[in-house]
Amino acid sequence: MNKIKTISSLIIFSLVLLACNKTTTKDNKVSTINSENVSVVEKTVENTPEQIMAKPQVPVLCYHRIEDGKKGDYTVSSSTFAAHIKILADSGYHSILPAQLYDYLLYNKTLPENPFMITFDDSRVEHSTIAAPILEKYGFRGAFFIMTITYNKKNYMTTEQIAALAKAGHVVGLHSWDHTMVTKYKDSIDWQKQVILPKEKLAKITGQPVEYWAYPNGVYNHTSATEMSKYMKLSFSLATKRDSLLPLQCVRRIIVPECSGERLLKSIRNSFKKK
Ligand SMILES: [Zn+2]
Repeated sequence: MNKIKTISSLIIFSLVLLACNKTTTKDNKVSTINSENVSVVEKTVENTPEQIMAKPQVPVLCYHRIEDGKKGDYTVSSSTFAAHIKILADSGYHSILPAQLYDYLLYNKTLPENPFMITFDDSRVEHSTIAAPILEKYGFRGAFFIMTITYNKKNYMTTEQIAALAKAGHVVGLHSWDHTMVTKYKDSIDWQKQVILPKEKLAKITGQPVEYWAYPNGVYNHTSATEMSKYMKLSFSLATKRDSLLPLQCVRRIIVPECSGERLLKSIRNSFKKK
């Protein structure tokens, strides 16, 4: 009798251990065990806005032009860009994509060590010809935000180049139709023109859903972010204060200027300090 008791205790103990292991490997699953029937009920629980706000921010970099012989806050030379990517790789950074950031923020999914995201605004042709090949050389992938009025225009990506980015494992997001700031959208016609139709068209070009947005000029307000949450899983702003009620719709980024790799690492540390 005692032997049977001991064996049953051992079985129950092992099942509990198994259940515990399952709980620790899946961060966001809730496991319940009841005494009659040892079972694991897993449930997905979304973080509240407050919990999302409290999480350490992942550094998100924003590049615009990559051009030699030009100066400006939104331009870096091709050699500077290459140096930035090299120092990030050499320093043990791992690029993540918006879907990973979304799962981290909402469901506490684990990210690789030293995560960062790299993003590109304005659909410039050099994003395809210079940036993507350098990223790929180091095993990195980025998010490219397209303003769709630029399709096939001089100095901008062709629709084939945009599709090729998605095929290579990068993410293609939307940056409006013609770069009008969301705070200027007056009615549903504007939302159709700037968000809904371009989102559909871009998805057809890439063969993938378009679920991420970068605000033109980084500008948003609570009303526009609320509306945007109907269409986009995550929206990216610039280094401004976040809307504490809608943290998924105002993920902070820093614009990377022409600067040394060491300087870049320093600004990453300063702008996205761990709490
Ligand atoms: Zn822009």
